[in-house]
Parts: sequence; structure tokens; C-alpha cells
Amino acid sequence: MKARRIEKIEDSIFGVMSALAFQYNAINLGQGFPDFSGPDWIIEAAYQAMKEGKNQYAPPFGIHSLRKIISNVYNKYYNIDFDIEKEITITAGATESLFSTILALVDEGDEVILFEPFYDAYLSDVYIAGGIPKFVTMHKPNFSFDFKELENAITPKTKAIIINNPNNPSGKVFTYEELITIYELAEKFNFYIISDEVYEFLTYDNHRHIPILTIDKEKKRSIMISSTGKTFSMTGWKIGWAIANPSITDAIRKVHQWTTFTINTPGQHAMAFAFSRIDDYLPEFKNEYQERRDIIFNELQKSIFKPHKPFGSYFIMVDIPTSNKDDIEIAKELTVHNNIATIPASPFYAKSSEGKTMLRICFAKTKETLMKGIQNLLSYKIQ
Ligand code: PMP
Ligand code: GLN
Repeated sequence: MKARRIEKIEDSIFGVMSALAFQYNAINLGQGFPDFSGPDWIIEAAYQAMKEGKNQYAPPFGIHSLRKIISNVYNKYYNIDFDIEKEITITAGATESLFSTILALVDEGDEVILFEPFYDAYLSDVYIAGGIPKFVTMHKPNFSFDFKELENAITPKTKAIIINNPNNPSGKVFTYEELITIYELAEKFNFYIISDEVYEFLTYDNHRHIPILTIDKEKKRSIMISSTGKTFSMTGWKIGWAIANPSITDAIRKVHQWTTFTINTPGQHAMAFAFSRIDDYLPEFKNEYQERRDIIFNELQKSIFKPHKPFGSYFIMVDIPTSNKDDIEIAKELTVHNNIATIPASPFYAKSSEGKTMLRICFAKTKETLMKGIQNLLSYKIQ
């Protein structure tokens, strides 16, 4: 008899679609990862760290130089201050930060508000913790939400809200007004804000990322989570962090210590080096992604899959043409018959049926892959 806590856990749609893409040798614009490596100089730095013997366990909460450089960067870019001894925990990607934070804060029967479309890990983490998810829909085309719907989702059992800014899958970038409203409600009704900001450096046009810790300056109730995977195009390295006040951090560390204890050492050294060069690195990185976003948005407009312009992240949502087929059927057909894998949007939704009308496309790809993928999409004819 298996534990009840896993009863509601489903297989990740990203794994399912990547396996199908592999089986049919399809261009994979589904699961979110670049089809190129991050910079060579970061790879060299990891190799160097290994050769220097930095191969044993790192301190459980992360190596000092990585915690220090993240603090310098956050101070410079956002004017955020935190204590590197007591307020940051380096984890196995943002995934483990989310898991450790949710397990540390959510009790059985506690309610957790999720904005949908949501990144799928949140729902599973809440279920594993025994929590009860409550949903607030961000509606297409611009993925805004109704403040009243948010207020109505709050009950005396509300323990936390999870925000993902910039948002995967919609590409929404939360406005100051939205964030301040969320913060004021959290203050009034006394709940935590768990803020997943892994796409913090990926915003387009003149949209600006506003970290939650610039709203909750005193870190009263917010946890800011991010990782190096997207910023340095090394998703496989799995280096993330959670920043929160000492009391919340202490709770997160209690779970982290018994989940992974610590994460890979040479990768942390290489990422400390990567952050030391971020001023030189970011402009070109952002330009390249702006170009990719523009290409995919412009090209998709010529197709039957009408795009919703994203202002952040490396995903774009498209409408599927009206027919008797839903997102899952169309995503499967595209992979099997047109050699192009995408992600059906319904797994990102629990309350609204809007997900059934969309697909998510990842544009963290070389121009060549993007153009091939778009060609395959253009060849699709609805039966
Ligand atoms: N949050 C979001 C919104 C993501 O898209 C992802 C994965 N790309 C993660 C968390 C997981 O990040 P990591 O790979 O650092 O665990
Ligand atoms: N975050 C990636 C995505 O959204 C996938 C990560 C994963 O497979 N868990 O596609």
C-alpha cells in the first residue's frame, strides 16, 4: 500500500512530450530547455574547479562565494539586501527550493493559492505536503486576473500564495500594481508569498522584472526563488536558491538538509564565476532572446496557431484552431505526423477550460531549430 500523499501525483507533461518527441524524432519545442549549451567560459570554470580538487561535499547551504556573489548582484540590480549566512539556501535547482519551501511551510489541510496557468511542480508539491490548492485564473489574451477572484480565493486556511514571475507558460510579467495588491492581501490575511523568479533576466520590449523582495523589502513573508538554469543556459546543472528571512530560511533548510543535504560543488564554483561576469554577459543574452521572441511571434502569426505575445520567459502560448480536437490530441498529432513537439496547455490549468484551447511553445532554441519547427507547424492541417 503506497502513501496517500502520492495519490494525486501525475507524470510531468514535459517528460511525456519529450519522450514522444524522441520516439518520433520530432523537433522539440516542448520541454523548456535550450538546444545549445551555456558559454564555454562557464564550462571551463567548472572543469577548473574539478581539477583544483573542488570535488567533495559543499557546505549544506551553498558555497560562500556563490551566496556572496548572488547577494552582490541582487544588490546592484534590484537594491535587495540579504544576510548570506542566514537568508539564502542553495538548492538542487529552483525545483528543490520550491519543494523544500512548500514542505517547510504548508501543513496538511492548509490552502495554497495558485495562479493558473501554473508551472506544474507547484501542484504536486502542494499535494505532497498535504495542502489544498485553490486556483485563480489569469485569462488570455493578456493573462490578467481579477483582483476580486483573488480575494474570494482567500479563506482563514490560506497559508501561502505561489506566484511565478515572469510566468511559465504564459510569458506574463506581473505589474507593480498586481504585486502590491498580492502583497497587501498577504499582509491583511497573514499568508506567505512564494515567488518563483527563474526567468528574472528574461523580459522583452520594455517590460521590467520586479522581484518580490523589492515589494516585501523587510522580507516579512516572501520567499524569492530562482536558479541559474535559464540565466546561463545550463538547465542540467540544477543550481538554484531560496531567499527568505532567517526564520523561514531555517525552516527551508530543515527540509533541504534531509532532501539533498548539499548540491554539486564544482557547478557552484563555476556559477559563482559566471555571476561575477554577469554585467558583460546579460546584454547579449537578452538581445538573443529578444530576437528569438520576435522571430517566433512574427512567424506564428502567419500560421493557424495564433500567438499570444509573451513579455517574459522563453515560452509562447498559441491558440489552436477551433475544431472538435483538444490541446492534447493536437499536440500528439503534431508530434507524430508533423514532427514538431509542443506542450498541450491543459495540464497548466485546474479550474478554467482555457488550457484546452492552447499549446505552449518553447523558443530557447537556435534560429535554425526554431525555423524548422515553425515550418513543421505550418504544415499542419486540421482534419
Ligand atoms: N520554475 C519554473 C517556472 C520553471 O520553468 C522551471 C523549469 N524550467 C523551474 C522552476 C525549475 O527550475 P530548475 O531547473 O532550476 O529546477
Ligand atoms: N521547466 C521546464 C519546462 O517548463 C521543464 C523542467 C522539467 O522538465 N521539469 O518545460
